[in-house]
Amino acid sequence: MPEARTYGRRRAVPAAKPAAEKPARTASSETAVSRREVITGRVVKTGAASTTQAGWDDVDKVASAAGGGDLYLKVNENRMVIKILGDGPFDVFASHWIDEIEDGSKSIRCWGNATCPLCQIGDKAKRFSACFDVVSLEDPEVPVMKVWDVGIKIARQLKEIASDDKRGPLNRPDLYFTIRKETKKKSVEYTLERVKERDLDEEYNVAPLGEEELRAFQAECHEYGDKVKEALDEDAMEEIVRLLMDDA
Ligand SMILES: [Zn+2]
Repeated sequence: MPEARTYGRRRAVPAAKPAAEKPARTASSETAVSRREVITGRVVKTGAASTTQAGWDDVDKVASAAGGGDLYLKVNENRMVIKILGDGPFDVFASHWIDEIEDGSKSIRCWGNATCPLCQIGDKAKRFSACFDVVSLEDPEVPVMKVWDVGIKIARQLKEIASDDKRGPLNRPDLYFTIRKETKKKSVEYTLERVKERDLDEEYNVAPLGEEELRAFQAECHEYGDKVKEALDEDAMEEIVRLLMDDA
């Protein structure tokens, strides 16, 4: 019987083919990302039922999110309180940094396998990113949902906390974090600290999120595997390769 030969569990695991990007999948996940960008980076109103509202409104929202301005958490020198919404990053990837690109982002998402055209010409994807959904309480009156793109150091610290029964999980209801950056002569350093909900008010003058508020944010979270930034397709990659080759 053919039925008896299938392995339910194994079939459920998507084959991790090295040549990942199938066109059909890319198209659908692109839609998912665009939809996300509409709702990420802005205040989620408690109790707001529908977030999908087609129309001219979305044009501006998507445009500003796509510009990158509003989507990401911007960590600065002042300690900022955040709440991590998921128990881990939804997207992890490495990026190539192409200084020669003058028009557009110099940061190019690595395909993550041997077929990556930039890896193939010997460029190393040096920038590591792990992306988390967080609520920024930088303005305690206006909690805003952001994508927090962390480097390897902070990612390791978070992983350690996440895998520690006493300190984790990251999205434990009473757990908040502070993050701040320090610009040193040649480097930027980030300092992460855990804060218990009960200390928020006294230590940081920040009121914890209400239950309903938190639920509303959680409902907007990315799913594991969502891409914060789509990888470039072959044609676009070839263009960059040509740019680098011409330059050499
Ligand atoms: Zn690569």
